[in-house]
Parts: sequence; C-alpha cells; structure tokens
Amino acid sequence: MMNLYQRIPWGLVLFLLPFVLHAQSKDNIRKHTEFLASDELEGRGTGSRGIRLAANYIAAQFNAIGLQKINGNSFYQKFPFPGQAEMESNIVGFIEARTPSTKSVVFVAHYDGLGIQKEAGQTDTIYNGALDNAVGVGALLELARIFKNAGAPKHNLVFVATAGEEFGRHGSQFYVDHPIFPNADTIICLNIDGFNVSGPREDFFIFPRQGVDFVDEIETLLTPLGWHYISPDWVDDLNASFDTASFLSKGIPALTLWIGNRLKGGEIAEPLDLGGIHTPQDEINDHWNWDGVEDHLGLYKRIADYFLEHPDGIEVTDPSLFMEQ
Ligand SMILES: [Zn+2]
Repeated sequence: MMNLYQRIPWGLVLFLLPFVLHAQSKDNIRKHTEFLASDELEGRGTGSRGIRLAANYIAAQFNAIGLQKINGNSFYQKFPFPGQAEMESNIVGFIEARTPSTKSVVFVAHYDGLGIQKEAGQTDTIYNGALDNAVGVGALLELARIFKNAGAPKHNLVFVATAGEEFGRHGSQFYVDHPIFPNADTIICLNIDGFNVSGPREDFFIFPRQGVDFVDEIETLLTPLGWHYISPDWVDDLNASFDTASFLSKGIPALTLWIGNRLKGGEIAEPLDLGGIHTPQDEINDHWNWDGVEDHLGLYKRIADYFLEHPDGIEVTDPSLFMEQ
C-alpha cells in the first residue's frame, strides 16, 4: 500500500500555496475592515465609545499576532487631546531585530474617524470611515502578521495605529515626540491611509514626491515587478495632509503609497464609486473589489524589505515643505 506522503500531490500543493496565502490576506483585511467600519464603532470619533472599541480590537490583534508591547506591558501610548479630559491612544507594537539594532521601519495607519455628526436633513449620521481608514488599519494588522510569521527582521519593525489624525495629526505627532526607537535611526515611515479596493491594478503613486530623495529609488525597485509609477501634480497639494507630515517635518523619511486606475495590461479604468471619504457614505459598498488588496499590501512589504536591507542614505531634503503653513 502506498503511504500517505507519496499520495499527496506535492507539486500541486506547492503551486497552490501562494494563492492560499494570498486569499488569507484578503480575508483577514476584509474581516478587520468590516468590524472597524461597522455602525457599532460609531465612526471611531475622538472621545467616543466606538474609538475605544477600535483601540481594544487593534491591541487584541497585536497581542494575538505576538507583537511586543511598549513599556513592557501595554500596547497603549496615551496622549492628551486638546479640549478633552480623556486621553486618546496610539496602539503601538513592535518586532525586535534579530540582532540588537536601534534602526527601525515604522508602519503607520490612523484608526480614528469623523465619528457621528448630526447635520440637518441627514438620516445616516455615522461617518463609518471604511476607506478612510478602517481598511488601512486592516492592512497594517495583516502586515504585522506577515512580518511576525517571517521571523525576526534585520532591524526593528514598529506598528503604530494612530488616533487624532482627522483633527490635526495628534497621534503621529505624539509618536515622533516619544518614539520607541530613536528618530535619527528611523529608516522610513510607511503610512497607510486609504487602500486599493478597486481590484487588480498596475500603477502607483507616492506622497510626497518633492522634498525627499527616495521616490526614484522606489520606482527603480518596483518597475521590474510590473508596476508603473505615475506622478499626478495634485500629489503636492497633500504634503501636510497625512500622518507622514509629522515624520517628514522632523526630517524622517516617510511616504504614503496609493494605487491608480491602470488595469493589468495597460487600459485605464473609470474610477469606481467607493463611497466618498469624509461623508456618511464612506462605507463598504458593492463596488468594492477586494482582489486588489494583496497587491497593494505586497508593495508595502517589498518596500519595507528593501529598506531593511538598505537602511542608509535616504533623506528628507526639505522638511519645511511638510510643516503647517
Ligand atoms: Zn485618512
């Protein structure tokens, strides 16, 4: 009788393995997004019960993944928020370098939203913040899981889910004022704010494109993988709009990477109606196509892997571009 080992079609298993891993990432990101963008979380407004539930969820996920806590015993980095008695919290976990290093790559995604806002004539008052930025937090959690499973990295990896972004980037500002590893040794901050839910694409762009010297290097890295770099002029209008500005204004390299509308093969698709950010319609809708999330996640993974191997030499050439005017 043939033993079981011989009967398993190993060729087929190895062939299918990447697809199985892919599907897992897609399902995980979707599950996180569905919870964080649900009405139960009240749009994750500052000071709300909903944002506390979101924080608890992220901390529980970090714990399940096996990230290390800050200060030894907590994922919470509490900070004061203007005009509010109660503290807000960044949720921060990290993966320690395999041999001691003070260098780090910092992943950031804000988990706060606009909450509940009552305006005349509105029936739906919950700003669910699905695209902005429940899905980005889902991607952050999935990246943490993938990196943790890959074993100890060459340098430290820090995962920061920020609060207070929508009302002035308070969480990211607090983080750079109280970093887990020295700012001078922070290789780059990779920020996730919005994520590709339009389906498979092959173009990308980077915020910022000015005042930093790493955009060409990333284009050189990703072009051989079949990605096309695009550089719309309006990118420059958002220099101070993301959590990255807290890093960039301190001279720490930082980026946000978005996917464009170029379909695999080169045709440009019409943008889908994904809900509209900063409105009560920022909910998961029927146009959302989850098939593009793994590719977007893969770009962040590839960029992080590259800078873990090449930690020196990139810089912010003009920090003043990212300071509030
Ligand atoms: Zn956002």
